[in-house]
Amino acid sequence: MNLLDRFLHYVSFETTATEERKDKASNDLIYELSKNMMRELQALNPDEISVNKFGTVDAKFYGSSNKPAIALLAHMDTSNQASGKNVKPQIIKDYQGQDIHLNDELTLSPKQFPTLNHALGHTLICTSGDTLLGGDDKAGMAIIMTALTDLLEKKEDHRSLEIIFTTDEEIGADAHHISMDQVTAKYGYTIDGGDDKFISTESFTAYAMQVKVNGKSIHPGSAKDKMVNASNVLMNFHHALPDVLRPEETTGYEPFFHLCNIEGCEDEAKGDYIVRSFDERQMEEMLKLAKLTAKRMNEHLGYEAIQIDIKEQYHNMKVVLDQHEEITKEIEGIYNDLGMDFEYEAIRGGTTGSQLSFMGLPCVNLGTGDYNMHGRYEYVDYDEMSKMVEVVKKLMLA
Ligand SMILES: [Zn+2]
Repeated sequence: MNLLDRFLHYVSFETTATEERKDKASNDLIYELSKNMMRELQALNPDEISVNKFGTVDAKFYGSSNKPAIALLAHMDTSNQASGKNVKPQIIKDYQGQDIHLNDELTLSPKQFPTLNHALGHTLICTSGDTLLGGDDKAGMAIIMTALTDLLEKKEDHRSLEIIFTTDEEIGADAHHISMDQVTAKYGYTIDGGDDKFISTESFTAYAMQVKVNGKSIHPGSAKDKMVNASNVLMNFHHALPDVLRPEETTGYEPFFHLCNIEGCEDEAKGDYIVRSFDERQMEEMLKLAKLTAKRMNEHLGYEAIQIDIKEQYHNMKVVLDQHEEITKEIEGIYNDLGMDFEYEAIRGGTTGSQLSFMGLPCVNLGTGDYNMHGRYEYVDYDEMSKMVEVVKKLMLA
């Protein structure tokens, strides 16, 4: 199988991540792709191979060099923001900047998606307009498997390699689905980004914040000076947070409070937020601001109407990667050797590496050539994907 066949094969599996479950991957369908990967890896005669209850696959190929063992990671699940069932990819050869009519309803146009202008003359793989493509992260899987297979077939000397295919990345659970006690690599690369020139060593630091309001429900006819409408209190709380610190107002290194879900009546109301910043101290200040806002509002109301529950999610991996300059030097060297441009991109999100870096496996994220992830406009630039095979192959060499 070549890179294209592999990619098309992987996206034919429906692997949508759903709700996190105890001791299992979120969706039984994910195990089918996991079994497939076990078969493909076993055929390459690994020195060690295992799969755990979450479907996470870990294969080790011992090498013949003094270079430290590295892990290469990609995730098998896809986002639940669009269907991943019956993905029917369309292949556009020698793209010339035209609008691509995905179906009767949806058009992929460089006017709306200017990254298409960098794809002139390239082969693109897009969706049929009904589903996502699943390039996130099956492009990463296809890149790793193609590089590995080429290397082993040509019997090239390689360093010790650990291939890890994970489950439930899209619901933030995949790092915890890895059996870390079995991981022997010194550091790793997640192949899970977009543009092939982006190297990512920074991600958000992330917290989830739930705001619960207990109101005092009274018949509206006799509510004067008595009712505390929980929904109104929640809306007031929301408006007390800075308007300019919302995802739709911020970019680059700017932080945000994002209200992702809200429900309520007079008696009770609940708002789910995610809070994001690249800077730990700034994050502390933001959480303090939210708590102070609730405290002041409670003082005015005369009781503990608002309760805030804060949960840590992940941290900016830069804190760890700053102590491992050798990793960024290595990858920069490879881009230079291949004559490829690179840029450091701070991810306005998290990667598996945001958690793994703090669990003892520092991880840098690399691109796959996948764009417009998580929706029906997703496409893969096949030429970029092919270049990433060369990058990964060089990383694997002794
Ligand atoms: Zn991904």
